Amino acid sequence: MSMPIQLGLDDESLAACVKCGLCLPHCPTYRVTGDERRSPRGRIALMRAVEWEGLELDEEWHEAMETCIQCLGCMTACPSGVPYGDLITTTRAATAKVRPPVRRLRLGLWILGHPRLLRWGSRTLAVTQRLGLMRLVPASVGGALPPRLPIWYRSRSRAQEVGMLGKGDVVLFTGCVMDAWQPEIHDAVEKVLSSIQITVDRSGDQSGCCGALHGHAGLIDEERRHAQRVVHAIGADRPVLVDSAGCGAALKGYGDLLATPEARAFTAQVTDIHEWLAAEPRLAALQAAIGHGDPGEENPVIVQDPCHLRHVQGCHGAVRDVLAPHVPLVELDDEGLCCGAGGAYSVLQPALATAARERKVAAVARATNRSGATTVVSANPGCAMHLAAAGLDVRHPIEVLADMLGSDRTIEEGVDGGR
Ligand code: SF4
Ligand code: SF4
Repeated sequence: MSMPIQLGLDDESLAACVKCGLCLPHCPTYRVTGDERRSPRGRIALMRAVEWEGLELDEEWHEAMETCIQCLGCMTACPSGVPYGDLITTTRAATAKVRPPVRRLRLGLWILGHPRLLRWGSRTLAVTQRLGLMRLVPASVGGALPPRLPIWYRSRSRAQEVGMLGKGDVVLFTGCVMDAWQPEIHDAVEKVLSSIQITVDRSGDQSGCCGALHGHAGLIDEERRHAQRVVHAIGADRPVLVDSAGCGAALKGYGDLLATPEARAFTAQVTDIHEWLAAEPRLAALQAAIGHGDPGEENPVIVQDPCHLRHVQGCHGAVRDVLAPHVPLVELDDEGLCCGAGGAYSVLQPALATAARERKVAAVARATNRSGATTVVSANPGCAMHLAAAGLDVRHPIEVLADMLGSDRTIEEGVDGGR
């Protein structure tokens, strides 16, 4: 059913698009469909039609917006500076009011806000995986999971589930899904930081989910609630390090989202872990601790840039800065084209997500042919899981560094080992 609506978009931002089309090759949904309505230029034209000409929304219009991965590859490519991120975020927020996200997405987002429930649900899924019963789980959900979820994992974040932050030098933001599904990455970060005498507090359950996926789905009020809780739980008295590109982008946006002095002070403390390490004077000590003088001795790795690192935070170069002294890096030849993960996109738009991923997998195959490298490094859990589900060997860049450090007694003592 069609209906009139005001999206609340800024006229100047809408008018900034000169329809040059230079963004089209950088749009994953246009690349896999060839459909103008699946391109940034086409989506902006459809937004204009609603705002300026009173076009009523129909199914086709909604699909054009809902198939946008919100990767912002178009924004990086646009020579006219069109703020596409603001346009699609405002559009999704307006349309979510008249066409709320589907029930299974709302349920999933609600669970993300309940860390204990998320962990127990994850353990149930892990047992289901071990018993070979994944046919009982919807394919769109099962396909988005890591191949082997942890059943039990005791890390230092568990000790902080109900406690307050300690007096560590930095706070590591642990989030929701990553803490439940990939806790070993947080341990790798702590191991690397400990090696240069930096003490770490984990944000834990008091902080919980960043709300990025809620914002992605247009549920801005829910994203704000998560943001307020995170800001209140962590404060702004020391650096807040983030090892998930998507969470980091969300946390860096809290200042604008909440528009309070507290939120702006918090945002000023947020740094991606690679960005922070690359600027840290003790990086040289880390390099010495790793102790490999010749990067050529290590197996090369292929670097995949998560969109939230490359197009939103703009700090993808820092991944190279921290890895390059220790391991040969292989670049992809696709100019950072999105892999199709995009928050819950791989669950909600599986066909397009898979088609976008196929292009990335092909780019990885070309990189392997050139270099012999088979391991991909990705600084975003969503991208990592999406690519691993296609059979790629994917690791977090910090895990690669942590491996090179060898065993670390302090960290190993905190790991239950009973996974
Ligand atoms: S969004 Fe930018 S690059 Fe794309 S058509 Fe408009 S002006 Fe050109
Ligand atoms: S955000 Fe990504 S998917 Fe959406 S229009 Fe821009 S390039 Fe295309």
